[in-house]
Amino acid sequence: MAGKANPFEEMKKMVDKAGKTLGLEQGLIEVLKSPKRELTVNFPVKMDDGKIKVFTGYRVQHNEARGPYKGGIRYHQQVDIDEVRALSSWMTWKTATVDIPYGGAKGGIIANPKTMSVGEIERMTRRYASEISIIIGPEKDIPAPDVNTGGREMAWIMDTYSMMKGYAVPGVITGKPREIGGSLGRPEATSRGLVFCVREAAKKIGMNLKGATVAIQGYGNVGAFAHMLIERDFGAKVIAVSDSQGGIINEKGLKYAEVKAHKEKTGSVKGFPGSKPVSNEAILELKVDVLLPCALENVITKDNAGKIVAKISGEGANGPTTFEADAILYKNGVLVLPDILANAGGVTVSYFEWVQNNYNYYWTEEEVNERLDKKITKAFHEVWDMKEKHKCNMRDAAYLCAVKRVADATKLRGFYP
Ligand code: GLU
Repeated sequence: MAGKANPFEEMKKMVDKAGKTLGLEQGLIEVLKSPKRELTVNFPVKMDDGKIKVFTGYRVQHNEARGPYKGGIRYHQQVDIDEVRALSSWMTWKTATVDIPYGGAKGGIIANPKTMSVGEIERMTRRYASEISIIIGPEKDIPAPDVNTGGREMAWIMDTYSMMKGYAVPGVITGKPREIGGSLGRPEATSRGLVFCVREAAKKIGMNLKGATVAIQGYGNVGAFAHMLIERDFGAKVIAVSDSQGGIINEKGLKYAEVKAHKEKTGSVKGFPGSKPVSNEAILELKVDVLLPCALENVITKDNAGKIVAKISGEGANGPTTFEADAILYKNGVLVLPDILANAGGVTVSYFEWVQNNYNYYWTEEEVNERLDKKITKAFHEVWDMKEKHKCNMRDAAYLCAVKRVADATKLRGFYP
């Protein structure tokens, strides 16, 4: 969401910085900063009370130098065009950081699905899908889930697109349910990539993850599965979690299975038995070993960055840290694992899903997870080595890797006409 800092302006500062370090000419830097195509759609939806409501949605295609456009679709009341522009460009840098053959795109609808019925969400989703169908497609632009969207919405989009074509087109979208061409391991993939990054970072700084304390902001798909995996696979102790309604803390530890069951029953983590309340702001400042911001943009700013004491901040969310906050965290020795690396597990398994759709041959969950581990671990070490070489932070290093890849591809393709 727009918040105080404009995320699109934040993104441009990062690309300027990387472009200058790489010695790119200014014109090329401008190309890399600019979204190539932006579609705004205003469309009617018949609500349950019989009234017509007009919704506004976007699909922004940022860059396709390295392959088809790729990126999720979010439903949120604070979606705006600059947010979608920033998110689309972060997809370009993300797919380049982990070196998968895609560009970057993003979509969004200004809507709060939590106040809508399932039927209303379905009609909104299908109409939006038909509106953007003129620019998406399995060779062109492949959407996926993001904030407040998941397998259910992806299935409707796949069906709508397929109805328009007259045959099933599973490769038009990723993050689908397994029954209609989704990949095993996709629901947990973003969180799995995140904990792989935390694992590698912990090795680098000599932190034992067993018993390490963790705080998680955000308990949607990414935050909740991060809780599950870091507890189950690494024996870390999650002491605080939060969602949009508030947070909870228990120094003795919060068990994933119990918190998840409570959220399913009550709709929030709030009020979990044996815990004390903690605000969404305070959760970031807790004395923990690992902080995982897994909610929305701009939550770590110059105003609170100085109060963050975690040793590692692993960004499950897109854009949680502002440009100015990054410098403060770096000075204070907080090891930030940047979004374009740390949450790239989702789009990586989306890529695997699309490959499986194109081949019509499906992998086991072990194969998916192993390939994800290889991809993310390789990218982590490339970024780490870049950081050592340039004596910079992990975000600057990830941008250097990514911007170089996209710039090289752009130069090789040349400029039409
Ligand atoms: N929305 C996710 C992200 O921000 C996944 C995108 C995808 O799988 O294409 O990375």
